[in-house]
Amino acid sequence: MSITDQIQKVRAEFSSDLESLSSENGALDQIRIKYLGRKGLVASLFVQMGTVAADERPKMGQVLNELKSDITAEIDGLGNTDSDSSKSATSNIDYTLPGDPIPAGSIHPLTQVMEEIKSIFLRLGFSIVYGPEIDTDFYNFEALNIPRHHPARDMQDTFYITDNVLLRTHTSDTQIHFMENHEPPVRIIAPGRVYRNEDLSVRSYCLFHQIEGLYVDSKVTFAELKGTLDYFARELFGQNVKTRFRPSYFPFTEPSAEMDVSCIFCKGKGCGICKKTGWLEILGCGMVDPEVYKSVNYDPKKWTGFAFGMGIERMAMLKYGVQDIRLFYSGDVRFLRQF
Ligand SMILES: [Zn+2]
Repeated sequence: MSITDQIQKVRAEFSSDLESLSSENGALDQIRIKYLGRKGLVASLFVQMGTVAADERPKMGQVLNELKSDITAEIDGLGNTDSDSSKSATSNIDYTLPGDPIPAGSIHPLTQVMEEIKSIFLRLGFSIVYGPEIDTDFYNFEALNIPRHHPARDMQDTFYITDNVLLRTHTSDTQIHFMENHEPPVRIIAPGRVYRNEDLSVRSYCLFHQIEGLYVDSKVTFAELKGTLDYFARELFGQNVKTRFRPSYFPFTEPSAEMDVSCIFCKGKGCGICKKTGWLEILGCGMVDPEVYKSVNYDPKKWTGFAFGMGIERMAMLKYGVQDIRLFYSGDVRFLRQF
């Protein structure tokens, strides 16, 4: 039989093999080996090329190469269409097995308390405003009626970047930024990080979080301040807590007060946490000092208002009974898992 006839025969045989190809696994591989294997039919035809007359060899070679590439293309095409099912059937992965559990994180207790406090004031009609953590002396001190000689400016308390630029020591700077750009009525809270150059201890850390509030309108009274903060305390610590206001001093409010809540641990009877007083101090507040209005070009005769500020860490420590402020910044999963 001439090599041309043999090539025709192999081509015909391949076609009929494909037609009768079973869906059984490995059937295609058997065909591949039969035709394209090292000792397959195509290879044996190439061996016979040696017997072909030299002048016919190029033409025969071409016909044979065509056969080989046709068969390869057919087999590869079939192999691709069923490759997915053949892989999954032959692999040892059981897709029905349950996966490794991915432990879910939790929201940081400081964030939880912050969100809760924000939502209470949002219900009272306050808007949330954010300010810069790096600010100038003017916004952090001067505009808030904290003169040059005030102890709060002492290098031990404030992280200065330059003589005039610092890490804010309270979020009150945000109030000045806001009042500069908005006419009253103003009803805002300013949450954020603040920085103090203090020794680290169970009570103090070099950074902490504050929420400050500001309400300015034409006839704001101290009674409104008390009503607002009393509502806030009962929303956060429970409807049974009592509040009291004690006279205090802040440069940017006059008169100033500190607000206590009845101790949430001993219900006011007196315990170690409230130092036997039955009261816990939670925030500072007061009527905005007219000097502050002057620095933002509000007319002190026309506008009155109140401001208050609290530390989120202190609120979270009271709410969850945490004894050491540094735990909030330790990143210790054993601590964080409890919230
Ligand atoms: Zn107590």
